Amino acid sequence: MSEDLKIITLGEAVLREKATPVEDINGELRDFIQRMADLMYKVRGLGLAANQVGLPKRFFIMDITQKDGNPKLEVYINPEILAKEGETEYEEGCLSIPGYYAKVERFAKLHVRALDLDGRPFERELEGLAAIAFQHEFDHLEGVLFIDRLSPLKRELFKRWWKKQSSLKR
Ligand SMILES: [Zn+2]
Repeated sequence: MSEDLKIITLGEAVLREKATPVEDINGELRDFIQRMADLMYKVRGLGLAANQVGLPKRFFIMDITQKDGNPKLEVYINPEILAKEGETEYEEGCLSIPGYYAKVERFAKLHVRALDLDGRPFERELEGLAAIAFQHEFDHLEGVLFIDRLSPLKRELFKRWWKKQSSLKR
């Protein structure tokens, strides 16, 4: 078994890379996704993108049901957003930026397409937290983080906060 996956935090280049499409959905990938899921549940995240564990490939997992104690893992491989509408706002956080939360504007509803673990395409309508989580994770695949979507002032405040956090950790 390969070594444990680790969550990459802000400052590492792979988080800013545009992920490339998955070409082969095989046992190795399914095993990797299972390890990502174990990690996500362990740290109680709502979602985790492949580049957050150091692999710049286009897939992510999410589970917005964790709070009900009835886990339902969603896997999106080579995801696409086919349609989007409405607006919503939610206080987001990110496993790659621990301790920071801020309100971000997102589309309220999405129509998405992706491949499942067997390589079969599926389409889904998402709204509420599912739509928000999808957009957050989809952004990761583009090398975009939720702090990029803050106003310039808020981003400036974030940068100062992050700098302070980083200096405290040293
Ligand atoms: Zn994130």
